[in-house]
Amino acid sequence: MPMRPEMIREMTDGGESCDLEERADGFDPIRRHMRAKLQMAALCATPQRLALCSLLFMASDRHVTAEMLSREASAMDLPLTTKEVKAGLQEFTGAGLLREVALYGATVWYDTNTGSHFHFYDEDAKLLFDMPEAIIPLFKLPDAQGFDVVAVDLIVRIRRNSNV
Ligand SMILES: [Zn+2]
Repeated sequence: MPMRPEMIREMTDGGESCDLEERADGFDPIRRHMRAKLQMAALCATPQRLALCSLLFMASDRHVTAEMLSREASAMDLPLTTKEVKAGLQEFTGAGLLREVALYGATVWYDTNTGSHFHFYDEDAKLLFDMPEAIIPLFKLPDAQGFDVVAVDLIVRIRRNSNV
């Protein structure tokens, strides 16, 4: 569902100055890193965005849904409502910090790895994860005949077979 402008505005209208907030970082290297990431994406570092950054970019590459992040935020007592998580994910995607991965059905996945790569989707566990790079050269792309290939989105849906 596309975010309405007023939902995005709610995330950005903290009424706080970025400069004042920056002083609060002190020598906390994680907060400074998250703030730098937001600045590079031309986003002001509101408490909500910093909280979302901490969920998304603290570990290695992640594949998440808005529902997964909302549960994590709630479990960690972060100042994020479900609506803010959804608006923030769309905003981060628009700013190039995340890549949206569309599967069949209503669930939208967000990938912190924005580079070109392929995915497996485990239908039983409902998990999206990167295809090992060693497998990727096995896929031969057809010539686009007069067109440039902008991106290739490949999702291989898998299910554990009963012989294992
Ligand atoms: Zn990925």
